[in-house]
Amino acid sequence: MITISHLSKTYVNPDGSTLQVLKDVNCEIKPGEVISIIGPSGTGKSTLLRSMNLLDLPTGGSILVDGEDILQKGYPIHKMRQKVGMVFQNFNLFEHMTVLENVMYAPYVLRKEPKEQVREESMALLRKVELAEKADVYPSSLSGGQKQRVAIARALAMKPEVILFDEPTSALDPTMVGEVLSVIRHLAKEGMTMIIVTHEMKFAYDVSTRIFFMNEGIIYEEGTPKQIFDHPRRSATKAFVQRIRKAVFEVGSRDFDFLDMDSQIRQFCNKYNIGDKADKALRLCRLMIRDILGGAHFPLTVRITYSELSDQTAMDFMVENLETSPLASASPESLDELRSLCREIIEEPTSRGFRVKLLL
Ligand code: ADP
Ligand code: MG
Repeated sequence: MITISHLSKTYVNPDGSTLQVLKDVNCEIKPGEVISIIGPSGTGKSTLLRSMNLLDLPTGGSILVDGEDILQKGYPIHKMRQKVGMVFQNFNLFEHMTVLENVMYAPYVLRKEPKEQVREESMALLRKVELAEKADVYPSSLSGGQKQRVAIARALAMKPEVILFDEPTSALDPTMVGEVLSVIRHLAKEGMTMIIVTHEMKFAYDVSTRIFFMNEGIIYEEGTPKQIFDHPRRSATKAFVQRIRKAVFEVGSRDFDFLDMDSQIRQFCNKYNIGDKADKALRLCRLMIRDILGGAHFPLTVRITYSELSDQTAMDFMVENLETSPLASASPESLDELRSLCREIIEEPTSRGFRVKLLL
């Protein structure tokens, strides 16, 4: 359906210096595939998507859509836009049009299809993204998640052969990421061909037929989700997919600002969409530091980690100069509570002391 060969893009800055963003991109995408593009920021993921939709003009190479090179002079842009839909990070809805008018715009105004038919089809699309009730309101009254679902309905209204998504959930409040991903999952089940730039690793793992890991302007490694996430071949891929988020606190004495640590742990949980774990994490800090360690073992390192891929949250309490597990001398009540809050408790000596690792 889409064949990209030796695609390159060099930006010329105002001062005359150049930046080669795409170096040599090659890939082939077949109907029904769901491709997730992952990779560090600044590696050309957006530029690649925008090139496929002619929002950016590549400097070299070719993009064949259904056998025709869309980069060739004279290739009609409207024909390509009809085949290739796009959903942006910031929704890009027409703010002065109602939700229904947004969805109807392309088929009715651009393609001049009969109004009643377009209205019916657009309502059906709004139903599909569960926003039929909002047909007559303006985008400004919608939440981010709702706006993005309208944007998806609007892209679908062109009956495209493929939809490109550029970080469709990264502008959203974490509580709204799920509703947008669930619409995309649904489209995937229906066999829609999609190319999705995303940082949602678990989603990419579940929904994709193939993953492209982009790095340094090329598709650095590609494969099935299993190959890329579970058995990456190249070290840069491995470092990227196994990335673990963490926040670390060095507690030097009992005068440490514990309230600030609480706030930061809460922020960490909200940021990585595990807000439901925040109360538990704070309770574990109290339990470990005050009840079990008796507020008497410092320095102490507290670490909270979250691995998006395995969806695992852990808390580490590393006490220096301690040779045996502090749990050995803890009261039965504290231990009971600890067990009730954790999925697993790991006790291990380290080179500098003793670590208790709690899996939430
Ligand atoms: P990604 O989506 O992977 O984060 P982008 O494709 O947005 O990466 O950008 C890749 C690089 O190209 C970045 O360094 C960015 O600053 C640069 N870039 C993007 N658009 C332009 C532009 N219009 N002019 C100059 N440089 C640009
Ligand atoms: Mg981008």
